[in-house]
Amino acid sequence: MTAQLIDGLALAKQTRADVAARAAALTAQGRRPGLAVVLVGDNPASQVYVRNKVKACEEAGIHSVLEKYDASMTEAELLARVDALNNDPTIHGILVQLPLPKHIDDHKVIEAISPAKDVDGFHVASAGALMVGEAGFKACTPYGCMKMLESIGMKDLKGKHAVVIGRSNIVGKPMAMMLLAANATVTICHSGTADLAAMTRQADIVVAAVGKRNVLTADMVKPGAVVIDVGMNRNDEGKLCGDVDFDGVKEVAGWITPVPGGVGPMTIAMLLVNTLESAERSLKSA
Ligand code: NAP
Repeated sequence: MTAQLIDGLALAKQTRADVAARAAALTAQGRRPGLAVVLVGDNPASQVYVRNKVKACEEAGIHSVLEKYDASMTEAELLARVDALNNDPTIHGILVQLPLPKHIDDHKVIEAISPAKDVDGFHVASAGALMVGEAGFKACTPYGCMKMLESIGMKDLKGKHAVVIGRSNIVGKPMAMMLLAANATVTICHSGTADLAAMTRQADIVVAAVGKRNVLTADMVKPGAVVIDVGMNRNDEGKLCGDVDFDGVKEVAGWITPVPGGVGPMTIAMLLVNTLESAERSLKSA
């Protein structure tokens, strides 16, 4: 079997076009959606991520502000900036790019963002809302994965067994909660899982979110399963690759996401969706 590709680039393009149309309608009502992206320090990967996010905003007609600060910025100074953005009516979403320099407490900064503007979905209030099924911002990466499943007709996952590899607060855990909310039976695996292959072989859907190459190989996949690869790694030639042995697994899976061109573009698209929805909510509550 050769798996069909879930084209994250194409789906992200379509999602961004929908966002652009809705953003134009909001702008016409005097409520142009706005995103503030805050970068502290000069981490090269973070610089690329924030540039891509700001560019995506511009293309979708979303007002964006990129605030760049020196790595010597203090925690108190950053908290003061977050507070100012919380109170800025032109800003509907605040994203503080992680990781922050070591002397700043990531958790404290994320918790300082107003949950109403937490478009990354990392605030404890957002995680709690997801857990209990209330409205709140969903973490962009797993949210994008859910949209990829929907794009292949897998919206209600009743009767499906989903295995998530990874239990981070930003990917694995919210992913598991979203799959559960869509009625899947969910297993979460991590570095303490005794027999990962025995788990993944039972899965109709596998989401790999580990950050290690070849965590999922062909012998670990049930024929016809859907494989979503969140991982971002570099291969021996320095090229971007995922957690999944793509060439091997595509011969067994029914559907597979590529890296690059899979989950990555959808993550940015969902950030725009969350920012837009924040602006729409603020208009309703005005
Ligand atoms: P993380 O915080 O490092 O979490 C990795 C998880 O993988 C942990 O739960 C860890 O288990 C588990 N793990 C490690 N080795 C394992 C093994 N051999 N078998 C099973 N589980 C194992 O990473 P993250 O932030 O969730 O990100 C995961 C990957 O996704 C990274 O490559 C990251 O770059 C990528 N990512 C991509 C996007 C995107 O937009 N495409 C967005 C976010 C993240 P323990 O909890 O037991 O340590």
